[in-house]
Amino acid sequence: MVLSSCSSNHTPDPAPDPDAGTNQFAAMDRILLRGAVVTPELSFEGEVLVEQNLITCVEAGTACESKPGATGATMIATNGIIAPGLIDTHNHILFDIFDDDDWLPAQLYQDHDQWPTEPRYKAMLDVKQCLVNDSQGKPAWCAQTPYGTPAGSLRCEVDKWGELKGLIAGTTSIVGLPGTTAACFASITRSLDAAQNGLGQDKLQTSALYPPSSPSTVCQNFTSGKTDAYVIHAGEGTDTKALAEFASLGMITTPNGCLYAPPTAITHGTAFTATEFTKMAQAGMKLVWSPHSNVSLYGQTADIPAALTAGVTVALGPDWSMGGSQNMLDELRFADTWDNAHWSDRLSAKDLVVMATLHGAQAVALDAKLGKLEVGHIADIAVFAGDPTKPYEAIVAARPKDVRLVIVNGVVLYGDVDLEPAAPPIPGCETIDICGVSKFLCVATAATTDKLDETYADIQTKLGQALTDADAATPTDGWNFAPLAPIVKCE
Ligand SMILES: [Zn+2]
Repeated sequence: MVLSSCSSNHTPDPAPDPDAGTNQFAAMDRILLRGAVVTPELSFEGEVLVEQNLITCVEAGTACESKPGATGATMIATNGIIAPGLIDTHNHILFDIFDDDDWLPAQLYQDHDQWPTEPRYKAMLDVKQCLVNDSQGKPAWCAQTPYGTPAGSLRCEVDKWGELKGLIAGTTSIVGLPGTTAACFASITRSLDAAQNGLGQDKLQTSALYPPSSPSTVCQNFTSGKTDAYVIHAGEGTDTKALAEFASLGMITTPNGCLYAPPTAITHGTAFTATEFTKMAQAGMKLVWSPHSNVSLYGQTADIPAALTAGVTVALGPDWSMGGSQNMLDELRFADTWDNAHWSDRLSAKDLVVMATLHGAQAVALDAKLGKLEVGHIADIAVFAGDPTKPYEAIVAARPKDVRLVIVNGVVLYGDVDLEPAAPPIPGCETIDICGVSKFLCVATAATTDKLDETYADIQTKLGQALTDADAATPTDGWNFAPLAPIVKCE
Protein backbone atom coordinates (compact mmCIF):
# COMPACT_ATOMS: atom_id res chain seq x y z
CA MET A 1 0.00 0.00 0.00
CA VAL A 2 1.08 3.54 -0.60
CA LEU A 3 0.87 6.53 1.64
CA SER A 4 1.04 9.90 -0.06
CA SER A 5 -0.43 13.36 -0.08
CA CYS A 6 -3.30 14.11 -2.41
CA SER A 7 -2.96 17.39 -4.26
CA SER A 8 -6.11 18.68 -5.86
CA ASN A 9 -8.30 21.74 -5.85
CA HIS A 10 -8.25 24.30 -3.11
CA THR A 11 -10.74 23.64 -0.37
CA PRO A 12 -11.86 25.21 2.87
CA ASP A 13 -11.74 23.21 6.06
CA PRO A 14 -14.99 21.42 6.84
CA ALA A 15 -16.99 22.74 9.76
CA PRO A 16 -16.40 20.80 12.98
CA ASP A 17 -19.07 18.21 13.57
CA PRO A 18 -21.08 18.96 16.71
CA ASP A 19 -21.52 15.22 17.23
CA ALA A 20 -17.77 14.61 17.31
CA GLY A 21 -16.84 12.05 19.88
CA THR A 22 -14.92 12.35 23.08
CA ASN A 23 -11.98 10.56 21.51
CA GLN A 24 -8.98 12.51 22.78
CA PHE A 25 -6.80 11.92 19.75
CA ALA A 26 -6.15 14.65 17.26
CA ALA A 27 -7.40 13.36 13.92
CA MET A 28 -5.70 13.81 10.59
CA ASP A 29 -7.83 16.41 8.85
CA ARG A 30 -8.54 14.29 5.83
CA ILE A 31 -7.80 10.77 4.66
CA LEU A 32 -8.49 9.44 1.17
CA LEU A 33 -8.62 5.65 0.95
CA ARG A 34 -8.41 3.84 -2.37
CA GLY A 35 -9.26 0.15 -2.85
CA ALA A 36 -12.16 -2.28 -3.14
CA VAL A 37 -15.04 -0.53 -1.37
CA VAL A 38 -17.66 -2.61 0.46
CA THR A 39 -20.53 -0.36 1.54
CA PRO A 40 -21.63 -3.24 2.57
CA GLU A 41 -24.61 -3.66 0.20
CA LEU A 42 -22.44 -2.84 -2.83
CA SER A 43 -18.83 -3.44 -3.71
CA PHE A 44 -16.71 -1.63 -6.31
CA GLU A 45 -13.20 -0.40 -6.93
CA GLY A 46 -13.19 3.16 -5.69
CA GLU A 47 -12.43 5.66 -2.98
CA VAL A 48 -13.62 6.80 0.43
CA LEU A 49 -12.88 10.29 1.72
CA VAL A 50 -12.78 10.99 5.45
CA GLU A 51 -12.88 14.57 6.72
CA GLN A 52 -12.48 14.91 10.46
CA ASN A 53 -14.79 12.22 11.86
CA LEU A 54 -17.15 11.94 8.89
CA ILE A 55 -17.28 10.12 5.58
CA THR A 56 -17.71 12.79 2.93
CA CYS A 57 -17.31 10.84 -0.30
CA VAL A 58 -17.83 7.23 -1.38
CA GLU A 59 -17.45 6.80 -5.12
CA ALA A 60 -16.33 4.34 -7.75
CA GLY A 61 -13.13 5.06 -9.65
CA THR A 62 -11.24 8.16 -8.62
CA ALA A 63 -14.18 10.53 -8.27
CA CYS A 64 -13.46 11.38 -4.63
CA GLU A 65 -10.05 12.80 -5.59
CA SER A 66 -11.69 15.71 -7.36
CA LYS A 67 -13.87 16.63 -4.38
CA PRO A 68 -12.83 19.88 -2.72
CA GLY A 69 -12.22 18.09 0.58
CA ALA A 70 -9.61 15.82 -0.99
CA THR A 71 -7.07 18.61 -1.25
CA GLY A 72 -4.24 17.97 1.15
CA ALA A 73 -5.73 14.66 2.26
CA THR A 74 -3.44 11.83 3.25
CA MET A 75 -3.84 9.38 0.38
CA ILE A 76 -3.69 5.68 1.17
CA ALA A 77 -3.71 3.16 -1.68
CA THR A 78 -4.77 0.20 0.42
CA ASN A 79 -4.53 -2.55 -2.22
CA GLY A 80 -7.17 -4.10 -0.02
CA ILE A 81 -10.81 -4.00 0.94
CA ILE A 82 -12.32 -0.92 2.58
CA ALA A 83 -15.36 -1.75 4.70
CA PRO A 84 -17.37 -0.32 7.57
CA GLY A 85 -15.75 -1.23 10.87
CA LEU A 86 -17.27 -4.39 12.31
CA ILE A 87 -20.00 -3.91 14.90
CA ASP A 88 -19.96 -6.40 17.78
CA THR A 89 -23.49 -6.39 19.16
CA HIS A 90 -22.87 -8.93 21.93
CA ASN A 91 -19.87 -9.06 24.20
CA HIS A 92 -19.26 -9.25 27.92
CA ILE A 93 -16.23 -7.04 27.60
CA LEU A 94 -15.04 -7.28 31.19
CA PHE A 95 -14.55 -11.04 30.70
CA ASP A 96 -12.17 -10.51 27.79
CA ILE A 97 -9.16 -10.85 30.09
CA PHE A 98 -10.04 -14.58 30.08
CA ASP A 99 -10.24 -17.24 27.39
CA ASP A 100 -10.52 -21.02 26.94
CA ASP A 101 -7.50 -21.57 29.20
CA ASP A 102 -9.44 -20.08 32.11
CA TRP A 103 -12.81 -21.78 31.78
CA LEU A 104 -14.69 -23.93 29.31
CA PRO A 105 -18.11 -25.49 29.94
CA ALA A 106 -17.55 -28.91 31.56
CA GLN A 107 -20.49 -30.38 29.63
CA LEU A 108 -23.30 -29.36 27.30
CA TYR A 109 -26.20 -27.58 28.98
CA GLN A 110 -29.84 -26.90 28.17
CA ASP A 111 -30.22 -23.33 29.38
CA HIS A 112 -28.40 -20.29 30.74
CA ASP A 113 -29.17 -20.93 34.41
CA GLN A 114 -27.19 -24.20 34.53
CA TRP A 115 -23.54 -23.47 33.75
CA PRO A 116 -23.05 -20.49 36.13
CA THR A 117 -23.03 -22.99 39.02
CA GLU A 118 -19.76 -24.57 37.88
CA PRO A 119 -17.14 -23.96 40.63
CA ARG A 120 -14.42 -22.96 38.19
CA TYR A 121 -16.75 -20.48 36.48
CA LYS A 122 -17.58 -19.00 39.88
CA ALA A 123 -13.87 -18.72 40.74
CA MET A 124 -13.24 -16.89 37.45
CA LEU A 125 -16.18 -14.59 38.12
CA ASP A 126 -14.70 -13.75 41.52
CA VAL A 127 -11.39 -12.77 39.91
CA LYS A 128 -13.25 -10.49 37.53
CA GLN A 129 -15.22 -8.94 40.41
CA CYS A 130 -12.00 -8.32 42.31
CA LEU A 131 -10.39 -6.54 39.37
CA VAL A 132 -13.31 -4.45 38.14
CA ASN A 133 -15.25 -3.81 41.36
CA ASP A 134 -18.66 -4.61 39.88
CA SER A 135 -21.82 -3.83 41.79
CA GLN A 136 -22.01 -7.47 42.91
CA GLY A 137 -19.09 -6.78 45.24
CA LYS A 138 -15.60 -8.17 45.67
CA PRO A 139 -14.81 -11.61 47.11
CA ALA A 140 -13.24 -11.66 50.60
CA TRP A 141 -9.81 -12.82 49.36
CA CYS A 142 -9.58 -9.72 47.18
CA ALA A 143 -8.58 -7.75 50.30
CA GLN A 144 -5.13 -9.37 49.99
CA THR A 145 -4.55 -7.71 46.62
CA PRO A 146 -3.96 -4.07 45.66
CA TYR A 147 -7.50 -4.00 44.28
CA GLY A 148 -9.16 -5.05 47.53
CA THR A 149 -9.87 -1.57 48.79
CA PRO A 150 -13.20 -0.12 47.65
CA ALA A 151 -11.51 2.33 45.30
CA GLY A 152 -9.01 -0.20 44.00
CA SER A 153 -9.95 -1.23 40.52
CA LEU A 154 -8.55 -2.03 37.13
CA ARG A 155 -11.91 -1.41 35.50
CA CYS A 156 -10.39 0.95 32.92
CA GLU A 157 -7.66 -1.52 31.97
CA VAL A 158 -10.03 -4.49 31.76
CA ASP A 159 -12.46 -2.61 29.53
CA LYS A 160 -9.64 -1.39 27.30
CA TRP A 161 -8.33 -4.93 26.92
CA GLY A 162 -11.70 -5.90 25.46
CA GLU A 163 -11.74 -2.84 23.21
CA LEU A 164 -8.24 -3.73 21.99
CA LYS A 165 -9.14 -7.35 21.26
CA GLY A 166 -11.92 -5.99 19.08
CA LEU A 167 -9.91 -3.23 17.43
CA ILE A 168 -7.16 -5.45 16.07
CA ALA A 169 -9.86 -7.55 14.37
CA GLY A 170 -11.38 -4.57 12.57
CA THR A 171 -14.10 -3.96 15.17
CA THR A 172 -14.97 -0.32 15.67
CA SER A 173 -18.06 -0.66 17.90
CA ILE A 174 -18.86 -3.04 20.75
CA VAL A 175 -21.95 -3.58 22.87
CA GLY A 176 -19.86 -4.66 25.83
CA LEU A 177 -22.43 -4.85 28.65
CA PRO A 178 -19.97 -3.33 31.13
CA GLY A 179 -22.64 -2.28 33.64
CA THR A 180 -21.49 0.95 35.19
CA THR A 181 -19.33 2.84 32.74
CA ALA A 182 -16.33 5.03 33.41
CA ALA A 183 -14.69 8.00 31.73
CA CYS A 184 -11.89 5.76 30.45
CA PHE A 185 -14.31 3.62 28.40
CA ALA A 186 -14.64 3.92 24.62
CA SER A 187 -11.27 5.63 24.19
CA ILE A 188 -10.20 2.93 21.70
CA THR A 189 -13.03 0.95 20.12
CA ARG A 190 -16.42 2.64 20.46
CA SER A 191 -18.12 1.07 23.50
CA LEU A 192 -21.68 1.70 22.31
CA ASP A 193 -23.47 1.21 25.61
CA ALA A 194 -21.43 3.87 27.40
CA ALA A 195 -21.96 7.59 27.76
CA GLN A 196 -18.50 8.09 26.22
CA ASN A 197 -19.50 6.39 22.95
CA GLY A 198 -18.64 9.47 20.92
CA LEU A 199 -22.20 9.78 19.64
CA GLY A 200 -23.20 12.58 21.97
CA GLN A 201 -25.83 10.38 23.60
CA ASP A 202 -26.39 6.82 24.76
CA LYS A 203 -29.89 5.61 23.89
CA LEU A 204 -29.05 1.92 24.14
CA GLN A 205 -30.41 -0.19 27.01
CA THR A 206 -29.29 -3.74 27.65
CA SER A 207 -30.07 -6.74 29.79
CA ALA A 208 -27.65 -9.63 30.19
CA LEU A 209 -30.16 -11.54 32.33
CA TYR A 210 -33.58 -13.08 31.83
CA PRO A 211 -35.96 -12.03 33.24
CA PRO A 212 -34.74 -8.44 32.97
CA SER A 213 -35.19 -5.85 35.68
CA SER A 214 -37.78 -3.07 35.20
CA PRO A 215 -39.05 -4.15 31.77
CA SER A 216 -42.02 -1.78 31.92
CA THR A 217 -39.66 1.16 32.34
CA VAL A 218 -38.00 0.16 29.07
CA CYS A 219 -41.34 0.47 27.30
CA GLN A 220 -41.85 3.91 28.83
CA ASN A 221 -38.39 4.83 27.55
CA PHE A 222 -39.38 3.67 24.05
CA THR A 223 -42.34 6.04 24.22
CA SER A 224 -40.42 8.98 25.64
CA GLY A 225 -37.55 8.58 23.19
CA LYS A 226 -35.01 7.95 25.92
CA THR A 227 -34.29 4.48 24.54
CA ASP A 228 -33.85 3.74 20.83
CA ALA A 229 -32.71 0.14 21.21
CA TYR A 230 -33.08 -2.52 23.87
CA VAL A 231 -30.74 -5.49 23.53
CA ILE A 232 -31.89 -8.29 25.80
CA HIS A 233 -30.67 -11.84 26.40
CA ALA A 234 -33.57 -14.25 25.90
CA GLY A 235 -34.13 -17.78 24.65
CA GLU A 236 -30.55 -18.84 25.45
CA GLY A 237 -30.56 -22.63 25.60
CA THR A 238 -32.38 -25.52 24.00
CA ASP A 239 -35.03 -26.48 26.57
CA THR A 240 -38.65 -25.46 27.02
CA LYS A 241 -37.61 -22.99 29.71
CA ALA A 242 -35.46 -21.07 27.23
CA LEU A 243 -38.18 -21.29 24.58
CA ALA A 244 -40.80 -19.99 27.02
CA GLU A 245 -38.85 -16.77 27.49
CA PHE A 246 -40.23 -15.43 24.24
CA ALA A 247 -43.85 -15.74 25.42
CA SER A 248 -42.81 -14.51 28.85
CA LEU A 249 -41.29 -11.38 27.29
CA GLY A 250 -44.78 -10.43 26.21
CA MET A 251 -46.23 -10.82 29.70
CA ILE A 252 -43.68 -9.20 32.00
CA THR A 253 -44.57 -5.65 31.09
CA THR A 254 -47.40 -3.20 31.58
CA PRO A 255 -48.93 -3.04 29.07
CA ASN A 256 -48.35 -6.60 27.93
CA GLY A 257 -46.46 -7.02 24.68
CA CYS A 258 -44.82 -3.60 24.60
CA LEU A 259 -41.36 -5.16 24.19
CA TYR A 260 -42.55 -6.83 20.98
CA ALA A 261 -41.44 -3.70 19.17
CA PRO A 262 -38.79 -2.53 16.68
CA PRO A 263 -36.31 -1.24 19.31
CA THR A 264 -36.02 -4.72 20.89
CA ALA A 265 -33.14 -6.92 19.75
CA ILE A 266 -33.02 -10.39 21.26
CA THR A 267 -29.59 -11.78 22.01
CA HIS A 268 -29.41 -15.57 21.38
CA GLY A 269 -32.93 -16.88 20.59
CA THR A 270 -31.23 -20.28 20.48
CA ALA A 271 -34.43 -22.10 21.47
CA PHE A 272 -36.73 -20.19 19.11
CA THR A 273 -38.63 -21.79 16.24
CA ALA A 274 -40.22 -20.37 13.12
CA THR A 275 -43.22 -19.42 15.28
CA GLU A 276 -41.20 -17.04 17.48
CA PHE A 277 -39.17 -15.67 14.56
CA THR A 278 -42.34 -14.92 12.63
CA LYS A 279 -43.68 -12.94 15.60
CA MET A 280 -40.35 -11.14 15.90
CA ALA A 281 -40.35 -10.19 12.22
CA GLN A 282 -43.93 -8.98 12.39
CA ALA A 283 -43.03 -6.76 15.36
CA GLY A 284 -39.83 -5.46 13.71
CA MET A 285 -37.63 -7.04 16.40
CA LYS A 286 -34.00 -7.95 15.65
CA LEU A 287 -31.84 -10.96 16.56
CA VAL A 288 -28.24 -10.96 17.74
CA TRP A 289 -26.57 -14.26 16.88
CA SER A 290 -23.59 -15.76 18.78
CA PRO A 291 -23.03 -19.17 17.24
CA HIS A 292 -19.67 -20.13 18.72
CA SER A 293 -20.66 -19.54 22.34
CA ASN A 294 -24.03 -21.27 21.72
CA VAL A 295 -22.38 -24.39 20.32
CA SER A 296 -19.86 -24.53 23.18
CA LEU A 297 -22.56 -24.29 25.83
CA TYR A 298 -25.53 -26.04 24.23
CA GLY A 299 -24.26 -27.96 21.19
CA GLN A 300 -26.63 -25.99 18.98
CA THR A 301 -27.25 -22.47 17.83
CA ALA A 302 -30.18 -20.34 16.74
CA ASP A 303 -32.08 -21.46 13.63
CA ILE A 304 -30.84 -18.62 11.45
CA PRO A 305 -32.41 -19.97 8.22
CA ALA A 306 -35.80 -19.88 9.99
CA ALA A 307 -35.12 -16.37 11.28
CA LEU A 308 -34.13 -15.13 7.81
CA THR A 309 -37.07 -16.85 6.12
CA ALA A 310 -39.36 -15.11 8.63
CA GLY A 311 -37.73 -11.78 7.75
CA VAL A 312 -35.80 -11.09 10.97
CA THR A 313 -32.76 -8.81 10.76
CA VAL A 314 -29.80 -10.77 12.18
CA ALA A 315 -26.68 -9.21 13.70
CA LEU A 316 -23.58 -10.96 15.07
CA GLY A 317 -21.48 -10.90 18.26
CA PRO A 318 -18.90 -13.23 19.82
CA ASP A 319 -20.47 -13.15 23.35
CA TRP A 320 -17.14 -13.80 25.08
CA SER A 321 -13.84 -15.60 24.64
CA MET A 322 -14.36 -18.64 26.90
CA GLY A 323 -15.81 -21.11 24.43
CA GLY A 324 -16.88 -18.21 22.23
CA SER A 325 -14.82 -16.39 19.66
CA GLN A 326 -11.88 -14.10 20.38
CA ASN A 327 -13.25 -11.42 18.09
CA MET A 328 -15.67 -10.70 15.25
CA LEU A 329 -13.41 -12.19 12.57
CA ASP A 330 -13.30 -15.49 14.46
CA GLU A 331 -17.07 -15.34 14.85
CA LEU A 332 -17.60 -14.66 11.14
CA ARG A 333 -15.48 -17.69 10.30
CA PHE A 334 -17.29 -19.86 12.84
CA ALA A 335 -20.67 -18.75 11.49
CA ASP A 336 -19.56 -19.54 7.93
CA THR A 337 -18.28 -22.99 8.89
CA TRP A 338 -21.46 -23.82 10.83
CA ASP A 339 -23.61 -22.58 7.95
CA ASN A 340 -21.74 -24.73 5.45
CA ALA A 341 -21.93 -27.83 7.64
CA HIS A 342 -25.55 -27.51 8.83
CA TRP A 343 -27.47 -25.25 6.46
CA SER A 344 -26.05 -26.12 3.04
CA ASP A 345 -24.32 -22.76 2.71
CA ARG A 346 -27.53 -20.74 3.12
CA LEU A 347 -25.46 -17.68 4.12
CA SER A 348 -23.25 -16.04 1.53
CA ALA A 349 -20.08 -14.23 2.52
CA LYS A 350 -21.95 -11.02 1.76
CA ASP A 351 -24.81 -12.02 4.11
CA LEU A 352 -22.26 -12.55 6.88
CA VAL A 353 -20.47 -9.23 6.28
CA VAL A 354 -23.82 -7.40 6.29
CA MET A 355 -24.69 -9.07 9.62
CA ALA A 356 -21.38 -7.87 11.08
CA THR A 357 -21.82 -4.29 9.89
CA LEU A 358 -25.12 -2.81 8.70
CA HIS A 359 -27.40 -5.22 10.52
CA GLY A 360 -25.39 -4.68 13.69
CA ALA A 361 -26.04 -0.96 13.39
CA GLN A 362 -29.74 -1.63 12.79
CA ALA A 363 -29.94 -3.87 15.86
CA VAL A 364 -28.78 -0.98 18.03
CA ALA A 365 -30.76 1.67 16.10
CA LEU A 366 -27.61 3.48 14.99
CA ASP A 367 -27.79 2.77 11.27
CA ALA A 368 -28.20 6.46 10.49
CA LYS A 369 -24.63 6.99 11.75
CA LEU A 370 -22.77 3.66 11.73
CA GLY A 371 -22.45 0.39 9.84
CA LYS A 372 -22.21 1.75 6.33
CA LEU A 373 -19.77 3.58 4.09
CA GLU A 374 -22.04 6.43 3.14
CA VAL A 375 -21.69 10.20 2.98
CA GLY A 376 -22.59 11.69 6.35
CA HIS A 377 -21.90 8.52 8.31
CA ILE A 378 -19.26 8.51 11.02
CA ALA A 379 -15.84 7.39 9.80
CA ASP A 380 -15.55 4.00 11.52
CA ILE A 381 -13.68 2.02 8.90
CA ALA A 382 -11.67 -1.20 8.61
CA VAL A 383 -9.33 -2.12 5.75
CA PHE A 384 -8.63 -5.81 5.11
CA ALA A 385 -6.02 -7.53 2.98
CA GLY A 386 -7.27 -10.10 0.48
CA ASP A 387 -8.51 -10.61 -3.05
CA PRO A 388 -10.24 -7.35 -4.04
CA THR A 389 -12.29 -9.20 -6.65
CA LYS A 390 -13.86 -11.32 -3.86
CA PRO A 391 -14.14 -8.70 -1.14
CA TYR A 392 -16.83 -10.35 1.01
CA GLU A 393 -15.03 -13.70 0.99
CA ALA A 394 -11.78 -11.90 1.87
CA ILE A 395 -13.35 -10.26 4.93
CA VAL A 396 -14.83 -13.56 6.16
CA ALA A 397 -11.42 -15.22 5.73
CA ALA A 398 -9.43 -12.38 7.34
CA ARG A 399 -7.45 -12.72 10.57
CA PRO A 400 -6.19 -9.83 12.71
CA LYS A 401 -2.83 -9.96 10.89
CA ASP A 402 -4.78 -9.19 7.68
CA VAL A 403 -6.36 -6.04 9.11
CA ARG A 404 -4.39 -3.28 7.40
CA LEU A 405 -6.01 -0.27 9.00
CA VAL A 406 -8.70 0.61 11.51
CA ILE A 407 -10.20 4.08 11.79
CA VAL A 408 -12.48 4.98 14.69
CA ASN A 409 -14.29 8.31 14.63
CA GLY A 410 -12.00 9.49 11.83
CA VAL A 411 -8.84 8.60 13.76
CA VAL A 412 -6.37 5.95 12.59
CA LEU A 413 -5.70 3.65 15.58
CA TYR A 414 -4.29 0.38 14.23
CA GLY A 415 -2.68 -0.99 11.14
CA ASP A 416 0.36 -2.04 9.17
CA VAL A 417 3.47 -0.20 10.33
CA ASP A 418 4.02 1.55 7.02
CA LEU A 419 0.70 3.35 7.53
CA GLU A 420 1.63 4.71 10.95
CA PRO A 421 2.27 8.22 9.53
CA ALA A 422 -1.53 8.50 9.21
CA ALA A 423 -1.93 7.90 12.97
CA PRO A 424 -1.94 10.62 15.65
CA PRO A 425 1.68 11.75 16.20
CA ILE A 426 1.12 12.74 19.83
CA PRO A 427 1.80 11.02 22.15
CA GLY A 428 2.68 8.35 19.58
CA CYS A 429 1.71 4.74 18.98
CA GLU A 430 3.29 1.41 19.90
CA THR A 431 4.51 -1.36 17.64
CA ILE A 432 3.22 -4.87 18.29
CA ASP A 433 3.58 -8.21 16.58
CA ILE A 434 0.29 -9.74 15.46
CA CYS A 435 0.95 -13.30 14.38
CA GLY A 436 4.18 -12.41 12.60
CA VAL A 437 3.04 -9.09 11.14
CA SER A 438 4.30 -5.83 12.60
CA LYS A 439 1.49 -3.42 13.43
CA PHE A 440 1.15 -0.03 15.05
CA LEU A 441 -1.39 0.40 17.81
CA CYS A 442 -2.44 3.74 19.27
CA VAL A 443 -3.75 3.45 22.82
CA ALA A 444 -2.39 6.24 25.01
CA THR A 445 -3.76 9.70 24.40
CA ALA A 446 -2.30 13.05 25.36
CA ALA A 447 -4.90 13.43 28.12
CA THR A 448 -3.56 12.56 31.55
CA THR A 449 -6.97 12.20 33.22
CA ASP A 450 -9.00 9.00 33.61
CA LYS A 451 -6.02 6.77 32.78
CA LEU A 452 -6.26 7.86 29.13
CA ASP A 453 -2.47 8.18 28.99
CA GLU A 454 -1.92 4.46 29.63
CA THR A 455 -0.09 2.61 26.88
CA TYR A 456 -0.83 -0.88 25.61
CA ALA A 457 2.26 -2.07 27.50
CA ASP A 458 1.02 -0.43 30.74
CA ILE A 459 -2.36 -2.11 30.46
CA GLN A 460 -0.90 -5.50 29.62
CA THR A 461 1.55 -5.35 32.55
CA LYS A 462 -1.04 -4.26 35.10
CA LEU A 463 -3.59 -6.90 34.09
CA GLY A 464 -0.99 -9.66 34.01
CA GLN A 465 0.21 -8.74 37.50
CA ALA A 466 -3.36 -8.51 38.83
CA LEU A 467 -4.16 -12.03 37.65
CA THR A 468 -0.96 -13.33 39.25
CA ASP A 469 -1.94 -11.56 42.49
CA ALA A 470 -5.40 -13.10 42.35
CA ASP A 471 -3.96 -16.58 41.91
CA ALA A 472 -1.64 -15.99 44.88
CA ALA A 473 -4.57 -14.87 47.03
CA THR A 474 -6.59 -17.99 46.15
CA PRO A 475 -4.00 -20.79 46.35
CA THR A 476 -6.41 -23.43 47.62
CA ASP A 477 -8.81 -23.47 44.70
CA GLY A 478 -6.15 -25.09 42.49
CA TRP A 479 -6.97 -22.90 39.50
CA ASN A 480 -4.84 -20.23 37.93
CA PHE A 481 -6.24 -17.38 35.87
CA ALA A 482 -2.84 -15.91 34.99
CA PRO A 483 -1.48 -15.32 32.44
CA LEU A 484 -3.65 -12.68 30.86
CA ALA A 485 -5.53 -13.89 27.77
CA PRO A 486 -3.49 -12.66 24.79
CA ILE A 487 -4.81 -9.90 22.56
CA VAL A 488 -4.85 -12.38 19.68
CA LYS A 489 -4.58 -16.14 19.25
CA CYS A 490 -2.43 -17.17 16.30
CA GLU A 491 -2.82 -20.44 14.41
ZN1 LIG B 1 -24.23 -12.84 26.62
